[in-house]
Amino acid sequence: MAESVNFIHQIIEKDIEDKKYGDNPIITRFPPEPNGYLHIGHAKSICLNFSTAMKYGGLCNLRYDDTNPVKEDVEYIDSIEEDVRWLGFKWNERLWASDYFDTMYEAALELIRKGKAYVCQLTPEEMKEYRGTLTEPGKESPYRNRSVEENMKLFREMKDGKYADGEMVLRAKIDMASPNINMRDPIIYRIAHATHHNTGDKWCIYPMYDFAHPIEDAIEGITHSICTLEFEDHRPLYDWVVREVGFWPNPPQQIEFARLNITNTVMSKRYLKKLVEDGVVDGWDDPRMPTIAGIRRRGYTPEAVRNFCEEIGVSKANSTVDIAQLEHCVRDDLKEKVPSRNVIFDPIKVIITNYPEGQYEECEIENNPAVPEMGSRKVTFSREIWVDRADFMEIPEKKYFRLYPPYTKEDGTAVDGNEVRLKGAYFVRCTGYDKDENGNVTTVYATYDPETRSGSGFEGRKVKGTIHFVDAGSAVPITVRLFDYLMIDDPDEPGRLMANPESMHVITCMAEASILDAEPGDRFQFFRHGYFNAEPKLYTRETPVFNEIVGLKSSWK
Ligand code: ATP
Ligand code: MG
Repeated sequence: MAESVNFIHQIIEKDIEDKKYGDNPIITRFPPEPNGYLHIGHAKSICLNFSTAMKYGGLCNLRYDDTNPVKEDVEYIDSIEEDVRWLGFKWNERLWASDYFDTMYEAALELIRKGKAYVCQLTPEEMKEYRGTLTEPGKESPYRNRSVEENMKLFREMKDGKYADGEMVLRAKIDMASPNINMRDPIIYRIAHATHHNTGDKWCIYPMYDFAHPIEDAIEGITHSICTLEFEDHRPLYDWVVREVGFWPNPPQQIEFARLNITNTVMSKRYLKKLVEDGVVDGWDDPRMPTIAGIRRRGYTPEAVRNFCEEIGVSKANSTVDIAQLEHCVRDDLKEKVPSRNVIFDPIKVIITNYPEGQYEECEIENNPAVPEMGSRKVTFSREIWVDRADFMEIPEKKYFRLYPPYTKEDGTAVDGNEVRLKGAYFVRCTGYDKDENGNVTTVYATYDPETRSGSGFEGRKVKGTIHFVDAGSAVPITVRLFDYLMIDDPDEPGRLMANPESMHVITCMAEASILDAEPGDRFQFFRHGYFNAEPKLYTRETPVFNEIVGLKSSWK
């Protein structure tokens, strides 16, 4: 992986130089809210936080940001941890924001004591009206100047469950005229009579993100709190909380970067959840999903995802990355890792008329020509083989060097049937073909030249085309799931994505028999077609199902 120094690293290097954190290590954190499966955007954040910590000999915490009691579910915890581990990272500590509720409550009391927070009873509508706009300052709440004693009493009563949800909130007392709306007395605690997965019914008041997050970071000694750009305008509030609550000597600093967007990809847990609930996909780990669980099941490798995250870098400006770049990283990583297998997607029978009936022989085919150490395997060859329909044309188009029969050109010249190399076997020359009543080619005829056996050192003549085959006698049918993008441009609404109704095509292919030695999850190059894996959940020897990981050809420059 290329070592790069991005703007975040530059900040950290300066802080190290200035000894800003003394001898303390650099500590980052990945703070998922456990309300869904992680997606590739989270992978970006994971890679950034963990590899930044590693780069500077520091630590990275996994912290569940579970301050919202109603949306969260422990079901997601296991998946989150599996995803982080799969990406290849080890967290320093696994922590729960909800474990700090006592400290947060104390911090709120401290603010009240200092006259920096007050209980407000404006309705949400009034609150909105009082907030002002981007161009107009806000108005002070009539509750803003309550006494410390009254605020203490009311806030304790809020905690004790005396009030209903929404009846009152605790607000920070900052500046209603601030040009930054986030600083206009933001809400820091609200009432929610809800059972929390961790703290049960202990609390009926919960801290707001902007209050909780800096406290979580400060408690853990986070030095650099990396988050996405939407929080840039919240940074003054982050700093305010850290300063006002201030019982920590070296305050954490928030640094924002542009979130990852990818073409043909929706990255919102809420939307992905809807796809699952509506049955558009077969679960969070459907191989078409941009979730980490989905791409893992699809056959993407952690190395490919890490390389992708490194390659796209970190930026301060929002942009959208072409999904072809991700696919390129996957292809690039697999190319020297996986063995190839012969699979015929749209089979057409070829009969080698001069090869004796009932005879067969074994051919040796390299597993990966780029990696000799990957060895070779044996495939059988006999009189009847399958080749891809695309490897035959009745009348060749220009520059077509695969199988075609003898034919006569428009100017009357006779052209001989074409000779091609069957990868791993012989040269064969096409001699003719049959068609059915609908005009579909059913059988192709050819002859082989026994002199040209692969590996025999034959140098008599060259052919321009090499195609692959499987022996009809020993071939096995397999199910192959070809994928198109799950999300495509909505033709009715330019700039919007919609679920692609044809994101999966299931076909039956003919494969060389050795394919059945696969274990679920094993990856292969299906020679000349692309990269595929034995479907991790569905593959068995009896019902072999494969997923398309990525095609061979790239549109990424
Ligand atoms: P979503 O909107 O998909 O639910 P989220 O930001 O609400 O995402 P969190 O669980 O709060 O999800 O995110 C955990 C961390 O991952 C946060 O630090 C967040 O900034 C980061 N993150 C989420 N989406 C992206 C993205 N597309 N690119 C980079 N980082 C992201
Ligand atoms: Mg969130």
